[in-house]
Amino acid sequence: MRCIESDDQKREAALRIAIQAGTLSTCPFHDDVTYDGHGDVEAAYKLGNRLFSDDAPLTNVFSSRREMTDYIQSVVNDLSGDYQCNVCAGLT
Ligand SMILES: [Zn+2]
Repeated sequence: MRCIESDDQKREAALRIAIQAGTLSTCPFHDDVTYDGHGDVEAAYKLGNRLFSDDAPLTNVFSSRREMTDYIQSVVNDLSGDYQCNVCAGLT
């Protein structure tokens, strides 16, 4: 029986999908900072669904497509309205 991935790992995987789809952006100066990239969340769902079929590691992270899209929605919602890197913004 495979181990159940943690909530953090699911959020991280969802974040990667949203970044890859262009829904979210990462700061060019701070790799670990993610913000709203003015992208369409639908693009992230579509990419996620495609990856879910092709990418075996992803099917080990999420138990279903529904769970995956829930996580994508959650990470995108968390960051919506943040249009710049908070670290960079704090330095100005
Ligand atoms: Zn930054």
